[in-house]
Amino acid sequence: MKNITIIGAGPIGSYVAYLLAKQGKKVEVYEEHKKIGKPVQCAGIVTSSIKNVLDFSIESCIKNKIKKIEVHSKNHCIEFNLKNLDFVLDREKFDKLIYKQAKVAGAKFHLGKKVTRFEKNKIIIGADGPLSMISKLINKNKNQDKNKDKNKNKNKNKKHKISFAVQARVKTRTKIKDKNKVIIFLKSKSFVWFIPESSNVARIGMIGKNIKELMLFIKEKYEYKILEYQSGILPCYVRKKVHQNNLFIVGDAAGHIKETTYGGIVPGLRAAKILTKSIIECKNYEKELKKLKKELWIHHKIREFLDKFSEKDYDLLVKLAKRPKVKRLFEKVDRDNIIKIISKLFFIEPRFLYFFLRVFRVF
Ligand SMILES: Cc1cc2nc3c(=O)[nH]c(=O)nc-3n(C[C@H](O)[C@H](O)[C@H](O)COP(=O)(O)OP(=O)(O)OC[C@H]3O[C@@H](n4cnc5c(N)ncnc54)[C@H](O)[C@@H]3O)c2cc1C
Repeated sequence: MKNITIIGAGPIGSYVAYLLAKQGKKVEVYEEHKKIGKPVQCAGIVTSSIKNVLDFSIESCIKNKIKKIEVHSKNHCIEFNLKNLDFVLDREKFDKLIYKQAKVAGAKFHLGKKVTRFEKNKIIIGADGPLSMISKLINKNKNQDKNKDKNKNKNKNKKHKISFAVQARVKTRTKIKDKNKVIIFLKSKSFVWFIPESSNVARIGMIGKNIKELMLFIKEKYEYKILEYQSGILPCYVRKKVHQNNLFIVGDAAGHIKETTYGGIVPGLRAAKILTKSIIECKNYEKELKKLKKELWIHHKIREFLDKFSEKDYDLLVKLAKRPKVKRLFEKVDRDNIIKIISKLFFIEPRFLYFFLRVFRVF
């Protein structure tokens, strides 16, 4: 039996380890940090569909449950009552839970060990995050092949596309009005999130690198004391090659992220399941991933489009979303089901077709 080496014990690496070890595979995981789950670089919000992906309970890692999402554009605001709750995870506990499950299933972990080289005869899974070395290796070869054909060279510079996010965990001076409500402020090429952990602790963050800009923004709205700052890299979805010979990538390493919200936990866990099935049943991982990749591509296109939005465009979008049927759709169908949302949207509110056609550059 071939040994399997996993690089990275983030949630996705540990989850692949858990799934493969459960199937009787000999799995070794290498993690450069000495402690699992540290440093935390995540807002930790997931849709309830995470429960359909995992086969063990995550109740012990849920810090708060979200019933409402309030979205602000410059002049408009809308509140969605979610039919299915979102969960605010304690990311450190969550990573540790999956790690422990993997260990119980038989996976062996080497903490504080950064991988710089590896044996060629083993199966190697790169779950090594947005700057994945395995992804670079696979996609370097891909681009070398492509360089032979000058006309097919468009993807060359896309492989390292990344974004940044900054976040502060704050203690608010007064009680948070509704601790079960997330607030989103739509901004040009960015958005700000306010995610309550409890009635007086919240995670406030934004897409971008500028923590000062974030602090100025929240100072206008809240009185708070900073508990800690966090920042991190977000991969962008690009049509990467995810497999070559005995090398595989998954999670952030493969750009498995919903770029509309930059949520990577649920898509990464789904991809981990697909990868495990592909290895166990000797199936083509690229092909098995097709459905998930299609969904992530739609998120990617919407993000590309939203990044061109002016404040006026966001105002129009929020105004359209206020139509009762549209609002109900967003409340009923969770964000991990983008195809269902998009396909129903046009019937309910044909004016969304205008946005859609612009996303796909029809005009
Ligand atoms: C600020 C911020 C907020 C976010 N908020 C959310 C959110 O609210 N909801 C959500 O769903 N997603 C969110 N995300 C995205 C989410 O955090 C990631 O999608 C998720 O962590 C992906 O997990 P992963 O295991 O693929 O990668 P990672 O969590 O990055 O884990 C990769 C691991 O590999 C290790 N590693 C890397 N290279 C090596 C090496 N050579 N040798 C050994 N070990 C190595 C790293 O130390 C790391 O532990 C957020 C991201 C950021 C930055």
